[in-house]
Amino acid sequence: MNTVKKEAVMNKNNDDHSQNNDPVATAQTQTVQWYDANPQTFTRAQRGSTTLLFGGLTTLHDKLIEAGLASQGYRARALPAPDNAALQMGKEFGNRGQCNPTYFTVGNLVKYLTALRDEQGMSSEEIVDKYVFATAGACGPCRFGTYVTEYRKALRDAGFEGFRVLLFQNAGGLKQSAAEAGLALTPKFFVMFLKCIIAGDVLNAVGYRIRPYEVQAGSTDAVLEQCQTLVADALRHGRGVTRALRRCRKLLQRIEIDRLQPKPKVSIIGEFWAMTTEGDGSYRLQRFLEQEGAECDIQLITSWALYCIWEAQYDTREAMMLRRRDGEAQADERPLKKLFLLRLARLVLERWFYRYARAAGLTDYHLPDMDGLAEISDPYYPNQLRGGEGHMEVGKLIQSATHNKAHLVLSIKPFGCMPSSAVSDGVQSLITARYPSANFLAIETSGDGAVNVYSRVQMALFKARELAAAEFATALNETKLDDDAAARKLAKRSRLKNPVHYPSHRVAGTAANAVYELA
Ligand code: SF4
Repeated sequence: MNTVKKEAVMNKNNDDHSQNNDPVATAQTQTVQWYDANPQTFTRAQRGSTTLLFGGLTTLHDKLIEAGLASQGYRARALPAPDNAALQMGKEFGNRGQCNPTYFTVGNLVKYLTALRDEQGMSSEEIVDKYVFATAGACGPCRFGTYVTEYRKALRDAGFEGFRVLLFQNAGGLKQSAAEAGLALTPKFFVMFLKCIIAGDVLNAVGYRIRPYEVQAGSTDAVLEQCQTLVADALRHGRGVTRALRRCRKLLQRIEIDRLQPKPKVSIIGEFWAMTTEGDGSYRLQRFLEQEGAECDIQLITSWALYCIWEAQYDTREAMMLRRRDGEAQADERPLKKLFLLRLARLVLERWFYRYARAAGLTDYHLPDMDGLAEISDPYYPNQLRGGEGHMEVGKLIQSATHNKAHLVLSIKPFGCMPSSAVSDGVQSLITARYPSANFLAIETSGDGAVNVYSRVQMALFKARELAAAEFATALNETKLDDDAAARKLAKRSRLKNPVHYPSHRVAGTAANAVYELA
């Protein structure tokens, strides 16, 4: 907590006391604690003249949300992905001892507003009047609970006293406070938001599957850009997103690929923001891995939403047990109804995801089974522990090892992250001891030392590459094919040449799976 001390020396008293030589009284000060005024006034009438800033997901998600908000009458702008300059600003204006995502995201907003003031000539008053920032929040238990106060503290110190930061409580659902009038968190808003999240997820996932195998470098990104425009237009004009995704699939199908390239598959796990951001906050690791010849298996935001639903289900069941034990009244008087609604929410979300996935060509993709993840990780990291990714990181590593899902599991852990440090540095050591087949690397993202991080990743990739090559050779052996025979067979099999077709999982590597499918 930041404290402003104003030392008001009381001359008269001091004089008196200095005459008395009273050291306690001489040091008498008047302390004024810093008070977070928490300005939130954003009315419906201000919507037309106020720009709603937001950001923090992947670039594609942010662009789709921008279009979705525009369709609902907001002047919205997604902030660019935070870079190292944002980190420096976060460190300059933020409190000490924060986790790295706090510095990056807080600094990113300060950097954007400072550019408006210093480069575009807007006054601070004008910026405070014409812009608001919306962000997700929670009550903790990690530093996520303090983000919103950090934003306001840094903004005040950077000269934007009174800037409005609206909190989109990820645990609060529709129960919103004073922001309601300007930022109407209605069911229509949430439907739009989910459309953006799921559409962004499926396009990102399909892109990561195709890009490593493209024949012409850059062709996947060029098509994904067209897809972004198609889906954003559909959202902006209230047209069907499913139809737009079908058009995306047709575009994606034109990309020329070669699946018979044995590439190490790298599963990226870790703290939510660090593994999602595509900027300096994760050293742009996704792109680095692809440049090094790897295929990335990313985590989707839909999975995070499923985890939030799982958390609510788990807590409701625990609360039901409490009543039976001590006979006290429960906070939630109708837990069965709540459980029913949560189950319904999970089913709707899953079906929605698979509908969009089918439309975009994300075939044979399976959302994680939250109950299964919870069960296998509970002995190592109890389900009651929350903050960050909770037990999910542990469960994902175990699943990766037992189901042979990746040649390398890379955990991105932000500097100063409480939950992720406990998991990556502590619990995962036990998991790798119990599951020796797991090739696991945890890297800490502090914003500097990128060369050191890249070098560690390259070392882990060396082993992953060898595993992928050996797996591919085994696949050829078992199917009695060689490279040429496999290529000839592939030339005749239009299904496997189709970029949106993904060979069924048998081993970790996509090329080896393609060989098994050819045979
Ligand atoms: S999970 Fe870690 S990095 Fe993320 S907000 Fe919490 S403490 Fe910070």
